[in-house]
Amino acid sequence: MRPAKLNPLFASLTSLPGVGPKLDKLYRKLLDREVPHVADLLLHLPSGAVDRRAQPKLNEVVPGALVTVSVTIDAHRPPPPHRSRAPYRIDTSDDTGTLTLTFFHARGDQLRKQLPEGERRYVSGTVELYDGELQMVHPDRVVDEQGFATLPLVEPIYPLTEGLALGNIRRAMQGALAVLPDLPEWQDEAWLSREQWPSFADALRHLHQPAEPTDIAPESAAWNRLAYDELLAGQLALALVRAHMRELAGRGSASEGVLRQKVIEALPYSLTPSQARAVDDIVNDLALPHRMLRLVQGDVGSGKTVVALIAAATVIEAGRQAAIMAPTEILARQHFNTIAPLAKAAGLRVAVLTGRDRGKDRAEMLERLAIGDIDLIVGTHALFQDDVAFKDLALAIVDEQHRFGVHQRLALTRKGEAVDVLVLTATPIPRTLVLTFFGDMDVSELREKPAGRQPIDTRVIALDRLSEVEDAVGRALAEGRRCYWVCPLVEESEKSDLAAADARFKDLQARFGDAVDLIHGKMKSAEKDRAMARFAAGETSLLVATTVIEVGVDVPEATIMVIEHAERFGLSQLHQLRGRIGRGSGRSTCLLLYKSPLGETAKARLAILRDSEDGFRIAEEDLRLRGEGDLLGTRQSGVPGFRVAQLQVHGKLLGPARDDAALVLTRDPQLTSPRGEALRHLLYLFEKDEAIKLIRAG
Ligand code: ADP
Ligand code: MG
Repeated sequence: MRPAKLNPLFASLTSLPGVGPKLDKLYRKLLDREVPHVADLLLHLPSGAVDRRAQPKLNEVVPGALVTVSVTIDAHRPPPPHRSRAPYRIDTSDDTGTLTLTFFHARGDQLRKQLPEGERRYVSGTVELYDGELQMVHPDRVVDEQGFATLPLVEPIYPLTEGLALGNIRRAMQGALAVLPDLPEWQDEAWLSREQWPSFADALRHLHQPAEPTDIAPESAAWNRLAYDELLAGQLALALVRAHMRELAGRGSASEGVLRQKVIEALPYSLTPSQARAVDDIVNDLALPHRMLRLVQGDVGSGKTVVALIAAATVIEAGRQAAIMAPTEILARQHFNTIAPLAKAAGLRVAVLTGRDRGKDRAEMLERLAIGDIDLIVGTHALFQDDVAFKDLALAIVDEQHRFGVHQRLALTRKGEAVDVLVLTATPIPRTLVLTFFGDMDVSELREKPAGRQPIDTRVIALDRLSEVEDAVGRALAEGRRCYWVCPLVEESEKSDLAAADARFKDLQARFGDAVDLIHGKMKSAEKDRAMARFAAGETSLLVATTVIEVGVDVPEATIMVIEHAERFGLSQLHQLRGRIGRGSGRSTCLLLYKSPLGETAKARLAILRDSEDGFRIAEEDLRLRGEGDLLGTRQSGVPGFRVAQLQVHGKLLGPARDDAALVLTRDPQLTSPRGEALRHLLYLFEKDEAIKLIRAG
């Protein structure tokens, strides 16, 4: 149960001043939450501040500066009646000089009320020199003596979304701060005083009502406090998940390796040394009577799928079942298509289940799964559905893990007894991030690419040369080659994404005819599959796509990729995309088209990609240049990542948070001590309350 003290923070945003259904919808987008709560708004931290503290006399004002000045209103000068477009001016002064306030399209009656002649007002805004005189166009703030007493001289600026104004957020935020309760302290007092950090509530107040612009820097004490809170919540949740997993003792799935050997023999190639090592690691884990929690980390094209299949064959030989879960329908189908012939050769019974399967076929499949007539099931989120039951699920394999949350991973493991977990990820994640997202999982790395791969020739080309690019693509198509054409992600709007891809599609179709096809995220999954299948079969040879092809799609015959507006993508994302080509033995070319002019950093980024195919190196550079959000693809896929912590700034807190979490749970595994009770608040605030359910009662 959620602690009652938190109730005001879990009220909906419409409980705040000025937030109606319309703004609520915008907040949903801004905060990336289905149902945003007051707590979510409070954790939306400022990206900067406006500083109005300078209060010079008029003769000290430096033109161009943002100031707050105290002036007497001398005279109103409305525009002459026949020139209503002319500005409305108000002369003001202090004992050292004069200042003109200038308003366009003004309403005189309002101005007279706000700035009555003969009275004193405080005005805040940017002062400019106009015809040798000081003037302020449309002051940001106009207040009287009384208003000045409460005027915030440093105002936070927030990341926004279209339609939502700064004023909206500030107002809602004040409302949120007004209901912020004092919560029991969940951090260790000694650590807090050593770090000189404020309480949780004070930290939020400092950040949303800064006294100095430096108060809102990520390096500030307040921000550090909240970042540590977030990291601790994450580490606690991971530790609880692990403790829970350990508690349910594992079951060994011993096997002689007959099925495994059959799969290996059915392969048209031999395993790379690191694939073989990963298989050994997994087979060892599976034979032991404790839970496996292993990450197979390997660059795009390193051959993770077959490792997964061999792992599955191992538990199947022990008479049990396995499931492979993929993040998208396309990927699930594709895994299935890759796996089916190999599985058949080894005598494994495989099925695929996605959201698209309904009705009688689905019911029949579920029946077979429940009685153990299916050995291996490949699917999407659909595998979590309540009516999906296994006879004896032994191994859950999760592909492209960072797109799934911890609780989703758990949902699958609950479908069996002591289920072993194997996670496949293509994003080469630096160590600190593995720790953050997965806790201390065991890791097998696939470092080399399968033999016979040709390097990809990557070129960086200005978009102005589009027609040359089209010519080159035309020549390649004439030679019978296949090509992906990726259209960019347009900030914030799926619609314009689609429009861009659609326009390019029409364009290319006009030129190359029926060879051209289009695939995008808004298509029904059956349509997407058909488009993919036509391309894979060579019925079409130029596939225009939005980033739906990003993950895992495998068409070895595709040897060309054009990426428009490459400068808008994250480096790792470009690397993933590029990994769609260079999979066969043919020579591959990737053309990164950018819009000029390109800044120095952007140039450097694309150059890294041109010069390297090492996903690990690219990921490190990406982290250095852009921050962790893009690296993990969280911005695109909307997975809740970090809201407060920035790993470049707060990464050093991760180790302490992890140790702290371990210590807490050793001393108080049920979270029932005073600190434990307080920590439950923390877990709710950072949406880790799912982990609380794992604490064994009594
Ligand atoms: P990823 O790690 O990106 O998921 P896949 O499992 O899709 O990679 O494998 C990419 C391609 O490499 C597939 O076409 C697969 O058949 C092939 N492949 C996998 N292992 C080997 C190997 N040892 N030798 C040659 N080709 C391989
Ligand atoms: Mg894959």
